[in-house]
Amino acid sequence: MEERYIIHKLHMYVPDVNCYILACRDTRKAVVIDPGGETIRIIKTLERTDYQVVGIINTHCHYDHVASNLAIKELTGAPIMIHEAEAEALCSPVQTLSFLFTAKPDDCGPADILLKDGDRIPVGNMTMQVIHTPGHSAGCIMLRVDDLLFTGDTLFRCNVGRCDFPGGDLELLRRSLIEKVMPLDVDLRILPGHDAESVLWYEIEHNPYMDEDIDLHSIPFN
Ligand SMILES: [Zn+2]
Ligand SMILES: [Zn+2]
Repeated sequence: MEERYIIHKLHMYVPDVNCYILACRDTRKAVVIDPGGETIRIIKTLERTDYQVVGIINTHCHYDHVASNLAIKELTGAPIMIHEAEAEALCSPVQTLSFLFTAKPDDCGPADILLKDGDRIPVGNMTMQVIHTPGHSAGCIMLRVDDLLFTGDTLFRCNVGRCDFPGGDLELLRRSLIEKVMPLDVDLRILPGHDAESVLWYEIEHNPYMDEDIDLHSIPFN
């Protein structure tokens, strides 16, 4: 059966990050997930479609995932959404880490809609579920819709996002993975903020951060 969604994975080269556009095949309503860097590529992709963008969703506040927020909002009129625990961070160059990426730190907010665990975001005929997975930062979220799980910087293929930035906590990240992610459908496609796609069962079998019995400090950190 044909999927209800159309997905565009835009691998940004500067900075190296994955931005996703997810559209409902029937209604052409769409969301942009993590518009970091290379604004023009995101705009060109949207202009080649007939999508109506209904939301700009950040998995967390880091600059590589939010740098194009305001430009995409200006183009589409869609609201910026982020977890409530990242609302202030989105407007802080120290917490977005924008000072690491650009000489003139940009504002990436404020957010228009604050999300919390369990929220449901309509995308045409589909509904996206918000899963709060703190650890990489305090307000990290994953987004689940149909067989897709957008994992931001919480879960990569055989790895996780670093936890040494403000609000990071590796123990908490692992708890998020074990308590919130392991119980999900193991056939979910993992669409991470960086690197290649995976599948949840593969991560459960191979990702050391998803194994409760492995000492976190024994894993060579990325
Ligand atoms: Zn990050
Ligand atoms: Zn990132």
